[in-house]
Parts: sequence; C-alpha cells; structure tokens
Amino acid sequence: MLLEAAIGDAFGAGYEYVPHKGIHSVDKLVYVQHPRHRDTKPGMYTDDTQMSLAISELLLSGDDWNAYNIAERFLTCFHRDPRGGYAKGFQGFLTETKSADAFLANIRSNSDKSGAAMRASAIGLLPDVKQVVEYSTVQASVTHNSEDGINSSIASSLMVHYFAYAFGSRKRLPHWINSNVDGTWSKPYEEKVGSKGWMSVSAAITAVARNDTLSGLLMDCINFGGDVDTVATIAMAAASCSDEYKKDIPNALTTGLENGRYGRNYIEKLDVGLAKLIAR
Ligand SMILES: [Mg+2]
Repeated sequence: MLLEAAIGDAFGAGYEYVPHKGIHSVDKLVYVQHPRHRDTKPGMYTDDTQMSLAISELLLSGDDWNAYNIAERFLTCFHRDPRGGYAKGFQGFLTETKSADAFLANIRSNSDKSGAAMRASAIGLLPDVKQVVEYSTVQASVTHNSEDGINSSIASSLMVHYFAYAFGSRKRLPHWINSNVDGTWSKPYEEKVGSKGWMSVSAAITAVARNDTLSGLLMDCINFGGDVDTVATIAMAAASCSDEYKKDIPNALTTGLENGRYGRNYIEKLDVGLAKLIAR
C-alpha cells in the first residue's frame, strides 16, 4: 500500500502544478523531472510519502497515539532524510525545529490544506471505523486542526479502510465515504486540484471510483492538474487495497523509485508490517 502510494507521489511530483496536455498511454508512465523543483529528481518521493512513513512507523511501534509522538516522528523522518516537496513555510519550520515540545509549542496548527490527508492512508488499516476516525483526527489535529483538515484526513484513511475490509465496490466508495464523514464526498470532482485537503481527497475518490487498473488510475490522477502528487498518493494507497483493481504498475516505476536507506526496500518492509494490522 505504501509502495503504490510512494510511486503515485514520485510520479505525480514531476507534474505538480505543471500545465500539460494529459497522459493517456502507459508508455508515458515514466518518472519525469519537474521543470522547477530541481531538487526532486525523477523517482524521488516527496513530503506525502515521508510523512506517511512517519505515521506508519508510529503505528507499527505500538507507542501511544498522541500529538507528542506524532510530532516526534515527523521531525525524525524529516531530519534523517531532509528533502523538498513540503510547503515552504512548513519546510522551514521542520528545519528549525529540533524537538517535539518545540514543534507543538510553535506550530500554526489550523491549516485546511492537504497535509493531513496525504499522510493518513495507513491508519485505514486499523480494524474498526471508530478507531480509524479517532486516529485520523488526532494526527490531523497536530497540524491541521480545522474542520476541513480533519475531515479530509478521515476521508483519506477511510478510503483505505473501505477496501482493506471489503465494504463494497469501487463505484460505491464515494457514497460510503459520504455517509461516514461530513462533506460532499460523493460529488464527482472535475476541477484542477488546489491546495485544500478536500480537493485532493475528492479528486482521489472520484478517480478511484471510475478506474479499475492502477496504471489508469495514476494517469487519471495526474490529468486533474494542480496538486497531483497528493491526489495520486491518496488514490493509489486506497486502490492498492481493492480486489477490483488490476495491479499493473509499469516495472519502470517500481524499479525507478528511489531506493536509498528510506526508499523502495524500506517502504516494502513497512508494507509487510502494515499488512499485519489488518484484522482478518
Ligand atoms: Mg508532495
């Protein structure tokens, strides 16, 4: 699940807010250099994945699920492997901040942007809806303590939960999310994706409901335009848990994903651990 999300993130990173004509064939599914974000090389993942690693590692550690431990994981993951892709202000904040106490004392925590939703997927593997909602709310509140910030995080993690626990078909996903989280999640999203959390999640729900292959889904996510690495991260995480989806990610995207200390092999190892969270 994390691997597919990271591939979505890394592929989408080449197209984030880049005007393009659309990607309509699988041979275009190769990592590309973003024209402005030169530090993010083709195949590198961004903030979406790095923060998802933080959330996943805390889930797997069994440590208490609280703001302090969550902030500490965000800092650990960033400082051990600093990278771009974060919103500029938040990147500066992470760079300067060295302790969870300082993080919690100084964070401007009322964002309604997509940061809380893009890292929430792994929470959806927990065994019941109530717990998923609670964990998503706690993690979102650390940085996105706003109605939209929290609801988009809950919706994102519930997308994974819906498929991991076989609640229904991909086409029913928008309706199910809508009946479990405040918002207008069953309305198909057709606009360019801006920075708000509800936009990325709505686009991801729309795309997941209307595709049935991971390659098609990835193209669809990118073709919204705008903040597409986040749409692809959220959508790929959920669809990778669906039996209806053909898992046809081109090999070049899998092998081309960065594979340093916290790259592909590391992510695959976390995925093995995360799969054990699913109550069967
Ligand atoms: Mg990103």
